[in-house]
Amino acid sequence: MKLTFSADDEAFRESIAAWLAENLTGEFEKIRFRGGPGDEHMYFEERREWEYRLAEGGWTCVGWPREHGGRGLSIEQQVIFHEEYARAGGPGRVGHIGEGLAGPTLIAFGSDQQQSRFLPQILNGKELWCQGYSEPGAGSDLANVRTRAVFDENKDKWLITGQKIWTSLATESDWCFLIARTDPASRGSRGLGFFLVEMDQPGVDIRPINQLTGTSEFNEVFFDAAECDADCIVGEPGDGWKVAMGLLGFERGVSTLGQQMLFQNELDEIVRIAKANGAAEDPAIRQRIADAHIGLRIMRYNSMRTLSSDVGDGSLEKAAMIYKLYWSSWHRNLGNLAMDVLGPEAEIIESEPYELTRLQSLFLFTRSDTIYGGTNQIQRNIIAERALGLPREPRPPTN
Ligand SMILES: Cc1cc2nc3c(=O)[nH]c(=O)nc-3n(C[C@H](O)[C@H](O)[C@H](O)COP(=O)(O)OP(=O)(O)OC[C@H]3O[C@@H](n4cnc5c(N)ncnc54)[C@H](O)[C@@H]3O)c2cc1C
Repeated sequence: MKLTFSADDEAFRESIAAWLAENLTGEFEKIRFRGGPGDEHMYFEERREWEYRLAEGGWTCVGWPREHGGRGLSIEQQVIFHEEYARAGGPGRVGHIGEGLAGPTLIAFGSDQQQSRFLPQILNGKELWCQGYSEPGAGSDLANVRTRAVFDENKDKWLITGQKIWTSLATESDWCFLIARTDPASRGSRGLGFFLVEMDQPGVDIRPINQLTGTSEFNEVFFDAAECDADCIVGEPGDGWKVAMGLLGFERGVSTLGQQMLFQNELDEIVRIAKANGAAEDPAIRQRIADAHIGLRIMRYNSMRTLSSDVGDGSLEKAAMIYKLYWSSWHRNLGNLAMDVLGPEAEIIESEPYELTRLQSLFLFTRSDTIYGGTNQIQRNIIAERALGLPREPRPPTN
């Protein structure tokens, strides 16, 4: 197993670090370390401008193949990119759902026409995307979606009707990719379609959901005969599950590996406070800080192990299946540690406008880490069934 990167990769590290040092200054100084989960409402327009700056420098969609406008970076270099981005305090990316989910899915499954229509607008940061998978009755059991898609011959369009929920960044998004039932008689994973739906139209009603953090990063989205062009279905009617699952592979893939540097920033901040306010004198706190440090090193070595055994086609091996369960539990515990290090201060917001500090927001938002992108229980099922080959848990029959 290799524990370091090659000389070429380290040279690449220097080039991205230098570009960030040169560009993430001046008007962008105030958005350093801002945005991202729990902080998405901050400096949205400024972060949008930053997205354009990244695009001008060719630093969006760095893992996409060159023929689709990306940099075609190796997995190692993508990890390095994300590491340096976080180290420099790069703000939460407003275009991450398009770049990390919609784009790779269109590259893998989309038509030429869909690729030429949508990919350039993701690359240049002009069009933002959201993910319309979950519904009130379909979360972990995603195949239970009830949203319907009916083809209207007169309009030559699909009409989408149903309710999605927990749709992150829907209010900021131009487009939503969603799964809907094209065959009304079907159940389970059959009879679904994967659609690309424009958000700014009369048939789409977005209602923000208030979160623990006081902000509304996710939303309910109601579709009432929302129109979707005939050529905005990815694959054929009935292919929706295959496309949707392909997309989840991207969600759990390389894009999450670079986040360890963000975690390091948070742990550094906690250690700094512990030293300053005396919490570091408490043996129990010292132990937990040491454990957090060890957990982060384990994540690092597990990522390197995964990269070492990558076969070159982007597929991550079975060992990678532990990653979501591990990082989400670690991160949730880091939120607890942050509160205990802050002590009574953790519960105080000093004055108007009563905004949470980064660590308060970290604590509250990390409650959701073990839920989104597949809950901890579902991750354990995945590890048991797909990595360890244990018998599958009983599933309801499909027709
Ligand atoms: C911050 C955040 C952002 C999100 N963003 C989006 C988004 O942009 N788009 C989107 O489509 N969705 C989004 N989601 C939704 C997310 O994907 C779902 O919350 C998640 O899949 C769980 O589904 P659920 O909430 O319906 O819970 P349920 O599936 O109802 O689960 C409830 C509980 O039962 C457990 N459980 C369920 N099935 C099993 C089983 N088979 N075995 C063992 N235990 C089980 C779960 O682990 C959980 O503890 C987001 C969620 C959060 C928290």
